[in-house]
Amino acid sequence: MLSQNSSATLAIAEHASKRHAVLEQIAAACVAANRAAHSVNLLAVSKKQPVSAIAAHYQLGQRHFGENYVQEALSKMPELPEDIVWHHIGPLQSNKTRAVAENFAWCHGLCNLKIAQRLSAQRPPDLEPLQVCIQVNLEGEASKSGLSADAAVALAEAVQDLPGLRLRGLMTLPPPQPNMQLQQQQFAKVAQLLQQLPSGCDTLSMGMSGDLEAAIAAGSTMVRIGTALFGPRPGAA
Ligand SMILES: *Cc1c(COP(=O)(O)O)cnc(C)c1O
Repeated sequence: MLSQNSSATLAIAEHASKRHAVLEQIAAACVAANRAAHSVNLLAVSKKQPVSAIAAHYQLGQRHFGENYVQEALSKMPELPEDIVWHHIGPLQSNKTRAVAENFAWCHGLCNLKIAQRLSAQRPPDLEPLQVCIQVNLEGEASKSGLSADAAVALAEAVQDLPGLRLRGLMTLPPPQPNMQLQQQQFAKVAQLLQQLPSGCDTLSMGMSGDLEAAIAAGSTMVRIGTALFGPRPGAA
């Protein structure tokens, strides 16, 4: 019993120190960019992480968690506190829209109108509209999903008419670059594009562990951090 308790305590302490380091990194990036410390939200990306690790971060104060795999997320949700704000990130297939509409608060990977229409129609009327970010891929990487600037603006206008959705902004996952200046240029293009979206769009979901300084300098309002908070994903090579 004693050893079980102390290993659980150690795990929490480990999560606490990782969380502290990430929050410090975000705070330092805000100072460097001359931005208010609370203008950037931390989304804890918990894909492949066990319920115990999510519960540890909840206990440390984290409320927004991001999951990529719908089935995995649905299996974890009932074991965790109800006031967690769940974000779906990454590609979404049309046969998974109902589960996202019914169980998540946010969807970050919106890339086409058909998915948007399904999410809106399937959003239960007793819930707030699903908060959505349109994913852009301004570097045109074939291996990643995401829209061009023009396609994103067109989709944004169409989403405005869907009652089950509330358009919040843009999400991006740009290719790695060798230095911060090049990273920042990519993020700045996305920040500029936000200006062309309908008014009320206030969210730039951009920046991960390796590029959050550049993302914050360019105006990110939500950084998505997994490994730096939770450690390596169990089973990852
Ligand atoms: C997995 C994932 C993250 C977090 O990645 P880490 O390298 O674990 O920090 C962020 N954004 C998206 C879209 C992801 O799929």
